[in-house]
Amino acid sequence: MKIIMLGAPGAGKGTQAKMLAEKYGIPHISTGDIFRANIKNGTELGKKAKAYMDQGMLVPDELTVDLVIDRVQKDDCVKGYILDGFPRTIPQAEALTKALSGRGEKIDAAVDVEVPDEAIVTRMSGRRACVKCGATYHIVYNPTKTEGICDACGDALILREDDKPETVQKRLTVYNEQTQPLIDYYKTLGVLVEVDGTKNLNDVFADICAILG
Ligand code: AMP
Repeated sequence: MKIIMLGAPGAGKGTQAKMLAEKYGIPHISTGDIFRANIKNGTELGKKAKAYMDQGMLVPDELTVDLVIDRVQKDDCVKGYILDGFPRTIPQAEALTKALSGRGEKIDAAVDVEVPDEAIVTRMSGRRACVKCGATYHIVYNPTKTEGICDACGDALILREDDKPETVQKRLTVYNEQTQPLIDYYKTLGVLVEVDGTKNLNDVFADICAILG
């Protein structure tokens, strides 16, 4: 099963991606996580990506596409994968379609988790992330057992730079201009699945599973 998660930043697609990866026993590939790991490790890619990410802009396609195409060819991807945060532009989507079709493969489903813009800013200011292990939470929708402390590894949680309100607004504009067109792209390919992302996360997950089977 090869699945793409679509949806605005803060729509909850990362959480759904993790749950789906667990259900199907396939890797969860988040380009945001890959960039953040590179930033943490001080790599060249991390340095380049950070400049864009901190401003709420997209990392250029030439730094992103090959990274993902290489990743989906690794051994752990033979049964499929969940792509979370990629593709985010039409050229990225076209590059992915081309790379897959060259191997006789295709995306099975592109899941659009729909949440109106107004709800996004409120939601994202409540997001908290663990820098150490990458786990993400929400102070209202997905709280940790102890406030401010990661359930998974016990480290302190932070509000990511790119989740701050002014950056969120910029990311939403970028999403609407550059990523929204992917909805039509995958609709045309006949693989678009739309779910109401305003429901609680277990209900959203149940809706996705009911459609994907
Ligand atoms: P995310 O964790 O998916 O919300 O991604 C965080 C940030 O990483 C985004 O705001 C972008 O700056 C960058 N990023 C992640 N995935 C991509 C992508 N496919 N193309 C370009 N930039 C990306």
